[in-house]
Amino acid sequence: MFDYLQYLSVLFLILFGMIIHKYEDKYPLEKFKRLKTFKFDMISIMISTLFVLFILDFLLNENIISFINNTFSLGESISEWPSYMCLIMALIVGDFGYYLTHRFLHLRQMWNTHQFHHSTINIYWFSGLRTSFINSLLIRIPYLIGLQMFEISYEIVSAAGIFLLVINFWIHSNLNFKYDKLLSYIFITPNFHRLHHVNDEQVAGCNFGNIFSVWDHIFGTALISDDWKKSPKGEYISWKKFPRRIIGF
Ligand SMILES: [Zn+2]
Ligand SMILES: [Zn+2]
Repeated sequence: MFDYLQYLSVLFLILFGMIIHKYEDKYPLEKFKRLKTFKFDMISIMISTLFVLFILDFLLNENIISFINNTFSLGESISEWPSYMCLIMALIVGDFGYYLTHRFLHLRQMWNTHQFHHSTINIYWFSGLRTSFINSLLIRIPYLIGLQMFEISYEIVSAAGIFLLVINFWIHSNLNFKYDKLLSYIFITPNFHRLHHVNDEQVAGCNFGNIFSVWDHIFGTALISDDWKKSPKGEYISWKKFPRRIIGF
């Protein structure tokens, strides 16, 4: 059941989305009509969001958390660490796992799982929620492992789930942000992630990160450029294949 904290989180997410929406109107990276794909986005995102909530409920289940905790916890060795340090380290470890998982999802054999996310033609704050069921599950596991490794409490784990949704809104936003380039040397920014969605062989396989861009810089997959942001995006999925792609196989 939803408690008041969960209601507050949903309210916060809607408010955050509305603020980004306003800024997208004022400072867009690309000019397009969000309404054009809105109906399709609403239906497909509602289905995948419902599943994300289901997955969060499943992943935050006591038995699963204690299994991951028993397997990965660093226990005694971090008992003296301040809690903010544990949280930062948990997010760093989780984000590195995300980077590897995202690269794995780009393998030919895994593409059916990830293709639904790359079917978005117009990238704006809400559109990033388009992920297949299996994709949604796989990309959350590394963060859960990171959080359990550093003994993060259950309440903070729930808050981290909301934080990851905020990150999703942020990196997909259609925002021409003044410090985008500068920030993208450390963090994933709207323009940096936009290049990941471009349908062009020349820029394929770049910018896989979620929170930190350092993984892309370290492993040579980073692309910082102003040239490709307006290039076509969105891989076509036929209606026949759609039900399978939304599940992710
Ligand atoms: Zn991708
Ligand atoms: Zn994306």
